[in-house]
Amino acid sequence: MDLGIRGKKALVTAASKGLGRGCAAALAEAGVELVICARGEEALRRTATELSEKYQVSVTPVVADITEAAARARVLEQAEGADILVTNAGGPPPGVWTDWSREDFIRALDANMLTPIALMQALVPAMAARGWGRVVNITSASVRAPVDVLGLSNAARNGLTGFVAGTSRQVAGKGVAINNLLPGLHATDRAVALDQGLAARESISVEAAKKQRESGIPAGRYGTTAEFGAACAFLCSAHAGFIIGQNIMLDGGANNLTV
Ligand code: NAP
Repeated sequence: MDLGIRGKKALVTAASKGLGRGCAAALAEAGVELVICARGEEALRRTATELSEKYQVSVTPVVADITEAAARARVLEQAEGADILVTNAGGPPPGVWTDWSREDFIRALDANMLTPIALMQALVPAMAARGWGRVVNITSASVRAPVDVLGLSNAARNGLTGFVAGTSRQVAGKGVAINNLLPGLHATDRAVALDQGLAARESISVEAAKKQRESGIPAGRYGTTAEFGAACAFLCSAHAGFIIGQNIMLDGGANNLTV
């Protein structure tokens, strides 16, 4: 299927690795010019070079912590005129609810709620003025099926979800579609770190830990960044203008929810 977005411009944040990179790659394959960012320079530059060479599109890397206002301003300078925005950042650490301080909450809210909101506030008005735009926020399956030890993430991402529910309906009439993609377990560096954590806790091999976690997924495996990217690219496509304010689970069936 031709996604109908060749020549459009996209900002994908936190995109040197993992799910962000998967989204950037799928948009590049669809012919979209990219601005990408991450904090680590080496992996970011490598991703930019690989995507631009493979898909023959321009990819502008900006080394930046997207949660910091000054760095975000540098990213937005390069992203001016973007038709597509994919927001992403690292997730807050797990923990115990009684331990979290106000500062822990502020950090989580900054990264996973206020940063994507600031990016939308910066780019969506111009999309609406031009009459076309797409936003995909990478959130988490834990928005709809909260994980007990991820209270910081549950709180911040549900705040973003509430914001998107209202805002997406306010800009839909201007041709701008805003949606959230909710990853379950995907094969990224983060998944490997979680496997290693389980292996250490239960004194089993990393492979056994992975098998144990995969057994809780009806699809029988982790999702891939390519699958995630393809879903993201479709939501950014010319065909997705009637999908508004949705929270779409990509979890291999792991969370048995009726709605
Ligand atoms: P990942 O493989 O660790 O990749 C994270 C990417 O984001 C890297 O490119 C990293 O580069 C960049 N990044 C992180 N913090 C950043 C920041 N403050 N500013 C700019 N770039 C930043 O992670 P992932 O698995 O793709 O996860 C992406 C998001 O989805 C996270 O919020 C995670 O919590 C959520 N999620 C993932 C899963 C899963 O199974 N993978 C499941 C549910 C939710 P640098 O470190 O160099 O900055």
